[in-house]
Amino acid sequence: MESGRQRDARIIVRKETGSELWQASSIISEQQTVRRIQNRMKLDIKDITDFCFCPNYYDLKRRTKDEKNMKVLYDESLHNVFYKYLMALQQGTLENSLEFLKIRWGKEWIKNKKSSQLVLTPSAIKRDTYDAKRKQGINAILTFDELMSEPQFPVVINKPYELRISDDLIITGTWEYIREVKRNGENIIQLVKIVTESNKFRVRKQMDNDLELIAADMAFHQTFNGTAELLYVDIYTKKMVSSYRVPEHQKMLIRTAKSVALSIKNNLRCVSPDSKCYHCEYRDQCLK
Ligand code: SF4
Repeated sequence: MESGRQRDARIIVRKETGSELWQASSIISEQQTVRRIQNRMKLDIKDITDFCFCPNYYDLKRRTKDEKNMKVLYDESLHNVFYKYLMALQQGTLENSLEFLKIRWGKEWIKNKKSSQLVLTPSAIKRDTYDAKRKQGINAILTFDELMSEPQFPVVINKPYELRISDDLIITGTWEYIREVKRNGENIIQLVKIVTESNKFRVRKQMDNDLELIAADMAFHQTFNGTAELLYVDIYTKKMVSSYRVPEHQKMLIRTAKSVALSIKNNLRCVSPDSKCYHCEYRDQCLK
């Protein structure tokens, strides 16, 4: 039969064993957390849309990211001009909006070293494309100025966001433009995406299923715990198009982001050349 002292000793042993177990389990869970943080993947929303467009396109774009092609350069330059316009609007320094846009476009496209180098290229096709883009840019700034004529207050311009999809996956992206407008005496917050590409085949369904806008909307909700109206500024069709999201869109983004993350992590690529290759800026380098 156990004496009182022996019982006490056993209790102490049990306690020590218990605390050792507790310590060990907390070390394991700490290690798991560290491992999870180390394994946490950050994916930009553009990586996801590029991968969905074509995994080979995704690879080529990243491999050649220092030699931007004309289309990418044009989109970036035009967006830079728009952001400067919105910043001036926010600061109350935008006096002659059209003049402001023309000067900025001149600086971005004509004086910018990277784009002007293209003019010096021996390729006549490149020079023609450069000039066509210069004219296209002028039309784009005229349209932008017209579409932005409504009284508004710029709240957020070109700011990065993070959207937590799971413990292991974070989507990063950029809110292009969040503004406040007045409607029937009410203040309305609008999340705006500016689309500059010329795509006459863009249909309503594509806009509603646009992963970039779904992610920006979810990040807005996660960050500010509120909702915003969604709006496209479509430069090519010269229209403002409102859009909406339902929970199914969010589920679609989560599923897609997880599948893309898994494919990238495991180096899985499935290439399917088809009619989109005709418009692909990497078709000359593809499958070389
Ligand atoms: S040419 Fe076609 S297959 Fe190749 S990267 Fe472009 S879209 Fe993909």
